[in-house]
Amino acid sequence: MIAMHNFRTFRKFILPAAAAGLLFYGRLTAGIPGTSPTGGKLLEMTYPFDARTIYWPTAKPFTVTKLEWRVNQGGWWYASNNYGASEHGGTHVDAPIHFFEKGRTIDQIPLGEWIGPAIKIDVVAECVNNREYQLTVKDVKRWEAKHGRVPVNSWVLMYTGIDTKYYPDPQKVLGTLKKGDAALAELSFPGFSAEVATFLVKERNIKGIGLDTPSIDHGQSKDFQVHRICFAADKLAIENIASLDKLPEKGAMLYVIPMLIKDGTGSPARIFALLP
Ligand SMILES: [Zn+2]
Repeated sequence: MIAMHNFRTFRKFILPAAAAGLLFYGRLTAGIPGTSPTGGKLLEMTYPFDARTIYWPTAKPFTVTKLEWRVNQGGWWYASNNYGASEHGGTHVDAPIHFFEKGRTIDQIPLGEWIGPAIKIDVVAECVNNREYQLTVKDVKRWEAKHGRVPVNSWVLMYTGIDTKYYPDPQKVLGTLKKGDAALAELSFPGFSAEVATFLVKERNIKGIGLDTPSIDHGQSKDFQVHRICFAADKLAIENIASLDKLPEKGAMLYVIPMLIKDGTGSPARIFALLP
């Protein structure tokens, strides 16, 4: 039995500290999923946007400025912020225009096209030993041997473990703490291979690809072939997707909801899965 003063200490200090700890943990991993009105289980797959959000080292990072946050002269509470950032950072999508001159912009892609079945190809073991690991056609065929053919119009998600283990530590996610052009030579993380991108857009009628790293091309790519192949084929892409460790290898429905930026080449997106 807990003595009364100990119980008070528990209630007064320990419980709030535990709650704050949970909140802090939540801020670093993903948002709060809640429940689906249709009764299915939701998986939040978005990292929160704050000063630590991972951006390409040459891109403008996310900033938020508190403007008021006070009881005003009328006697009621009022709060608002300003925010700004590059389109390409944190959990976000790429539109085909990003690497294909005639490609569609964010506002030209219908909402329904962003929603579809997701499959997950787990290459965490390969990426542990090789931060520049590139997904192969063999990896896709291995998935198909277990689960059947990649479903038409699906998101093909590569699970590397990089963001899942390290986000938002820039040294471990990007491979460098540097900013600007000086960082580019040090970028290091896994991605898709040109070979598998060609296979998926030509041999499998997919919707798009995504992964838990900052780019669908691996860190040391110099020619961004995966971006060029996917977007020339009018496919979509997701980068820095969260919670891939909790997504099943097949059966989930992925909801990708980008901010509707007119002429957007990419956009921050709220991404969640409805689990089977
Ligand atoms: Zn991007």
